[in-house]
Amino acid sequence: RTARDCDVVVIGAGPAGLMAARTLTRHGLSVTVLEARDRVGGRTWNGLVQGADGREHFIEIGGQWISPDQTRLTALVEELGLPTFQRYREGASVYLSPDGTRHVYDGEMPVSETTQAEMDRLIAELDALAAEVGATAPWDHPRAAELDAVPFRTWLTSLSEDQEAIDNVSIYVASGMLTKPSTTFSLLQAVLMAASAGSFSNLVDEDFILDARVEGGMQSVSRAMAAELGEDVVLGQPVRTLHWAEPDAATADALNEVAADVRDGVPQDGGPGDVLAVTEDYEVRARYAVLAVPPNLYSRISYVPPLPRRQMVAHQHLSMGLVIKVHAVYETPFWREEGLSGTCFGGGRLVQELYDNTNRGANDAGGEPGVEDTCGTMVGFVSDVHAERIWELPAERRREEILEAMAEYLGPRAKEPVAFFLSDMAAEEWTRGAYATSYDLGGLSRWGHLQNRPVGPIHFACSDIAAEGYQHVDGAVRMGEAAALAIVDQERR
Ligand code: FAD
Repeated sequence: RTARDCDVVVIGAGPAGLMAARTLTRHGLSVTVLEARDRVGGRTWNGLVQGADGREHFIEIGGQWISPDQTRLTALVEELGLPTFQRYREGASVYLSPDGTRHVYDGEMPVSETTQAEMDRLIAELDALAAEVGATAPWDHPRAAELDAVPFRTWLTSLSEDQEAIDNVSIYVASGMLTKPSTTFSLLQAVLMAASAGSFSNLVDEDFILDARVEGGMQSVSRAMAAELGEDVVLGQPVRTLHWAEPDAATADALNEVAADVRDGVPQDGGPGDVLAVTEDYEVRARYAVLAVPPNLYSRISYVPPLPRRQMVAHQHLSMGLVIKVHAVYETPFWREEGLSGTCFGGGRLVQELYDNTNRGANDAGGEPGVEDTCGTMVGFVSDVHAERIWELPAERRREEILEAMAEYLGPRAKEPVAFFLSDMAAEEWTRGAYATSYDLGGLSRWGHLQNRPVGPIHFACSDIAAEGYQHVDGAVRMGEAAALAIVDQERR
């Protein structure tokens, strides 16, 4: 194995790990970033799909949108000199009501007055809870355990009998964000999701949440940071073992003491130690590690000595959701000719959301800066139980069902794309789901307080343990920067 020495070994070259490495080097610390895949960017990923028209079309397989509250990511994108553009949103939207009736509308969703009033009431309740609990430490709220014991669905049905209102509100957190059925996570987890975006009302506002994109794709953010870091980023090297103290010194008693410190509320200070990250071809010796991988993958690494027992238990309560991002590319954005924005919505349906995702600017498939593609792209989402079912079908049937579902919103022309692609992040060994991880019922109040605490010299950074920008690239960037600054702070002591 090649031996390397540096101040900090960063594990994972997604936006969190690369932002940590960028910040550390800017403060004069040396880094090695070890990445399992043969590319950087993690859950942000530029792709090309071959079209029946003989062209290759650009798609974003993973994360892509930036919302106005995601100020750290916005500033980084500017620093890196990457142009952005807004999602196309001129014209009317389409809503499919529970009985399948198609409504074309502008402004407010075309539901009955009673349903609208119920939705407004539920949203107001969630806004109030989000403001009260906040995103920084929901586990510290006096009612944390109580709010974490109630499934989100149970809470909604305890407040309203209007099924359509419940479905329409639940989608914003359940299938739309955590990508898990609303029976499987708690009210507290839903409130964290809302608080991390500023409010529940922000989540409901697709013009806010799905505002801007990076020309050339969100993976460009990671590519640009990796280019700055040069040879400090090493690809194709999954970390298999992480030694984080001198093995001889780490007796079982010493480890239990670490756990006892945490239990007694004594913060782990994240000071330097002896760290050795081992991959197939490298042994990187450092004084700190930043673990910048999704929490569901923490246990893919062997820790020597093992992590304290509380962490080992806590990590088992975080799991990935499941969603398929659907791309369908058409010869033209035909929906625009019909006065439609491409924004479509139908709570509980196979494809529950659709948006105009036409590309602009230079990207991996070519294009001129600032110029929109002549082909029109739609993006849709098939979430949680629907995604489970659809993956069981033969590929042709799967495509047919999804395009049929899209045609219910956009008409028969939706069934004739020149290119079609389904993001399959659940089959990616170094992700295993989408969009992100969240706690099971009761997990956030029991284990959340541990997620950002360093363990000895190991610091944690990932969008899935963020407050602002939780489960988003902005949260990843914030966490990477915060972990790096905590290490810089240690070095100054
Ligand atoms: P990741 O991006 O997961 O990066 C972690 C890295 O660690 C990966 O490169 C992985 O290969 C590597 N790794 C794992 N294990 C090891 C190991 N043992 N050794 C070495 N390396 C390892 N966010 C938005 O803001 N807007 C969106 O529109 C949006 N849409 C999304 C759509 C999809 C389909 C998906 C999947 C995600 C979406 N997200 C979106 C979420 C966003 O992509 C993530 O929040 C973000 O990428 C998380 O960054 P991260 O660095 O924390 O983790």
